[in-house]
Amino acid sequence: MKRVLFTPGPTQLPTEVLEAMARPIIHHRTDEYRTLFLETTRLLQEHLGTTQPVLTLSCSGSGAMEAAVSNLLSAGDEAIVVEGGKFGNRWHSICEAYGVASHKVSVEWGRVATVEEVESALSAHPKAKVLYLTHSETSTGALFPVHDIARAAKARGVATVIDAVTSYGVYDLRFDQSDLDGVVWGSQKGLMIPPGLGFVCFGPSAWALAEKARLPRFYFNLAKARAALEKGDTPFTPAITLVLATHAAATLMAKEGRTQVFARHQRNADATRRAATALGLRLFSEVPSNAVTAVTVPAGVDGGAVPKTMEQRYGVKIAGGQDHLKGKLFRLGHIGHYDEGDILRLVGAFESALLDHGYRLEPGIAVKAAQESFRRAGAGAPVRVA
Ligand SMILES: *Cc1c(COP(=O)(O)O)cnc(C)c1O
Repeated sequence: MKRVLFTPGPTQLPTEVLEAMARPIIHHRTDEYRTLFLETTRLLQEHLGTTQPVLTLSCSGSGAMEAAVSNLLSAGDEAIVVEGGKFGNRWHSICEAYGVASHKVSVEWGRVATVEEVESALSAHPKAKVLYLTHSETSTGALFPVHDIARAAKARGVATVIDAVTSYGVYDLRFDQSDLDGVVWGSQKGLMIPPGLGFVCFGPSAWALAEKARLPRFYFNLAKARAALEKGDTPFTPAITLVLATHAAATLMAKEGRTQVFARHQRNADATRRAATALGLRLFSEVPSNAVTAVTVPAGVDGGAVPKTMEQRYGVKIAGGQDHLKGKLFRLGHIGHYDEGDILRLVGAFESALLDHGYRLEPGIAVKAAQESFRRAGAGAPVRVA
């Protein structure tokens, strides 16, 4: 059975990435590796819109999140965490593990926090040093207005760090032109490579905080990572093969063009959403992210059976809901290496599986809606992802 992942991580791997990983391993303390690593870092910076160092860590995205807590704060410090899903909540859990008092701004899952809600937390907790939040909340498919929130935080002297795990490579973050002070992401989402790398980028205010931060850290010492990066090195043995994969993926993104990459995600997301609503289904989030489309499971349909059939009969793997949303959501991922043809396959499999499970629909209606969406977006000419 041919299987394609349409999950919000891990995502589909381009052939160029697979080929890069199949190459014989090289040694990391060599000029060959250093040149490649520095070039990879430059491409990652370009994609984030920054001249600040991008640090590559051998861990998944959550490790990068942890590093952004342990390197910015000291025991007893206060932070604000904006939470409207599983991943927002992870910031809170990390703060708690490190003895940082984290004040939550909680919104109902599926909703996004408003600037006003965050501002009232900023007023209530004037000692908070950092505000942590998720950009694209993968568990609910919601997109938080991080740039507006960061502006409000900056006005009060609070640094903003975002989890961009499913927004890096999907949205133009323009880091240097924004009020964001830190961004973290991982490798198995918009970067189109397997899991195993985490990335951190800090702006000047975050580095100033890092100098005073005293929380314990050893492996994820970002000041050391930054110093090593200047010479194309890492403090410890890097995940060499994944760095080679990152180089291949970042090169693909640069070849396609930043603007084109973001526009393709917009088209893919629009088509997926239109297909879902044409089926009479409800989008779970009020502000849907271009990374993942979360759809509410309709009454009378088994939320576990549909994804299973999609995978087993149609070779299309999607995700369900997490935690209390288990069985209540379908999450259709379109982060990274997907084009128009892929999306037609995704929504075709989705409607076929719904039909198989007795959901009443007019066959072809989702595919038709997606086709029309692509046509309206002017994607008539064949688009090659690479
Ligand atoms: C995938 C994901 C993470 C990181 O999870 P890991 O399993 O550690 O890679 C963090 N935040 C969001 C929003 C994610 O989608």
